[in-house]
Amino acid sequence: MAKETIRVYARVKPLGRRQEAGIYSIDDDEKSLSTLEVIVPHDLADGVVNNKRESYKFKFQKIFDQEAKQDVVFDSIAKPVAECVLAGYNGTIFAYGQTGSGKTFTITGGAERYSDRGIIPRTLSYIFDQLQKDSSKVYTTHVSYLEIYNECGYDLLDPRHEASRLEDLLKVTIMEDPDQNIHLKNLSLQQATNEEEALNLLFLGDTNRMIAETPMNQASSRSHCIFTIHISSKEPGSATIRRSKLHLVDLAGSERVAKTGVGGHLLTEAKYINLSLHYLEQVIIALAEKNRSHIPYRNSMMTSVLRDSLGGNCMTTMIATLSIDKRNIDESISTCRFAQRVALIKNEAVLNEEIDPRLIIVQLKKEIQELKDELVLVTGKERTSELSQEELLQLDELIGTFLKDNDPDSALDVGADMRKIKYCFVHMKELMNHSKISDRKSLSQHTSEEKDTNKEAEELEKMKELLQQRDNEISILYILVNMLKKEKKKAQDALFQLNAASAGIPCAVPSSADDYYLSVGENMSLGCQEAFEVFKRDHADSVTTEDNKQLLKQRFAEAKCLGEKLNEVRNKINNLKGKITQRHIQKAALAVSSPSEELNMLDPVEEKLRMQIEDEKKRYYFCLKLLPSCGR
Ligand code: ADP
Ligand code: MG
Repeated sequence: MAKETIRVYARVKPLGRRQEAGIYSIDDDEKSLSTLEVIVPHDLADGVVNNKRESYKFKFQKIFDQEAKQDVVFDSIAKPVAECVLAGYNGTIFAYGQTGSGKTFTITGGAERYSDRGIIPRTLSYIFDQLQKDSSKVYTTHVSYLEIYNECGYDLLDPRHEASRLEDLLKVTIMEDPDQNIHLKNLSLQQATNEEEALNLLFLGDTNRMIAETPMNQASSRSHCIFTIHISSKEPGSATIRRSKLHLVDLAGSERVAKTGVGGHLLTEAKYINLSLHYLEQVIIALAEKNRSHIPYRNSMMTSVLRDSLGGNCMTTMIATLSIDKRNIDESISTCRFAQRVALIKNEAVLNEEIDPRLIIVQLKKEIQELKDELVLVTGKERTSELSQEELLQLDELIGTFLKDNDPDSALDVGADMRKIKYCFVHMKELMNHSKISDRKSLSQHTSEEKDTNKEAEELEKMKELLQQRDNEISILYILVNMLKKEKKKAQDALFQLNAASAGIPCAVPSSADDYYLSVGENMSLGCQEAFEVFKRDHADSVTTEDNKQLLKQRFAEAKCLGEKLNEVRNKINNLKGKITQRHIQKAALAVSSPSEELNMLDPVEEKLRMQIEDEKKRYYFCLKLLPSCGR
């Protein structure tokens, strides 16, 4: 619905018997707005002759004069609003005017005649009539009746209302949700399934209504009353619900406090009423102003409750009730002025549709069941929500094959089964997460391995060094062993030479052990000599070597001595052998010159020489036996 200004109507109350009418005229224009002209004659009572008249003109949607009947007022003012409410929009009709100007008569009606029924009963009748006619939707209707008195809210439908004092009643309070929607706490919503039930509730509320008598009007209310009809509708099978409400508002008298002519308790009431209406006026002024961002709705309870009705999501209508009595002309003019400002306010009613989640659940459940049935029909298999163990194993296998397959065109085909497809995704995700974790683990392992490798490399390096050291030592030992072998060989050679000497072959024996080492050293290269020196110095057995060296020296000395002895014995043997040979030559010469029998007989000289040789040989062998122990 487009933005619309609040429709403002005027209704002139019939004059009472003792009342003197003020001067006014109504220019009723069917096509456009109607005009009410009020003439204020200057008071002659002050003695000044003044023929001047003051004229005030006010435009209204329509003006209902004194004779206008309730049904006409309803048809023109309330029916269009009721229709909007039935269509799902919010609506408000409020009556504004001084006490006794006919607000209650217009909104609720008079009790004397059935035809005096006001807007509320007629609207209820109309709405229930319409609801009955419309079978395309399911409707639910509730009513609430709120009274605001001295800025406090009371539930007029509260069953305790009649029995309790006003102070003891639960107060209705305003709650605002995050979307700035107003909610009224402690205000009951009574369901009314038909016109009669709704009318009974209206009657109950009216009975409970706060009434305060004033000199100006015996039955005038000093409180604001808001009767609300709540309608919700929905098409069968649909989850969309339309909710709308119609506020029918009977405001307290708009007259000034001074005019009431009362004091004490009632004056307090008047002040409050005025204060409340003063805030209403402020809200209306603010709404009529362009570019006004803040509207002071929160200042009073009434403006808070009527927030939507004023400048919001609502089709709002105002009825200015006028008491055209000469004494009340000023008040009538101020009511009209207020109405003119209200007429400037633009409202925009929107359809109040909402989706009921409970209904959506029901709908979806139904849809799921239908789809399941269809699936069974197509596949011929009943499908449970869980996959069987066998199916799970099959899927694991399929996934495994798919992952191993290097062919880029390979596909994981599990058929048109969402449960299986979902399972595959979940399984793949698990696998991916697992591989990520193991990657991380292997990375950390790798790092520790690297550390280990570094350590090992260090150790290896150390071992290599050690090995090199050992190798050096071994090669030194090898050299040493070779040297010892050579030395042994030399000793054996010496022995051989001795043997040979004994057989007439000359031989050389080292003069001392030092000479030997010297000769060993001479035979070695410079590097070997150096290594040999280092080995001799550093080797753990260097002491033993030194001892051995000493021993060796001693043995060599002994060997040398024996060698000399052997040479001496060998010389003696050779000498004795020479003597024997000499004897033989002498004997041969004698045999030639003077052969005799004696020459063939044993020669005692020769025999003696042979005995000597045998003795020397024994000595020789004795020395020779001693020699190996010296060479070792
Ligand atoms: P308010 O509620 O504005 O104080 P009421 O609606 O109580 O005024 O009206 C005061 C008196 O005038 C009531 O007795 C009511 O019946 C009578 N009255 C008001 N308007 C009309 C009308 N249009 N026709 C007949 N009687 C009316
Ligand atoms: Mg009233």
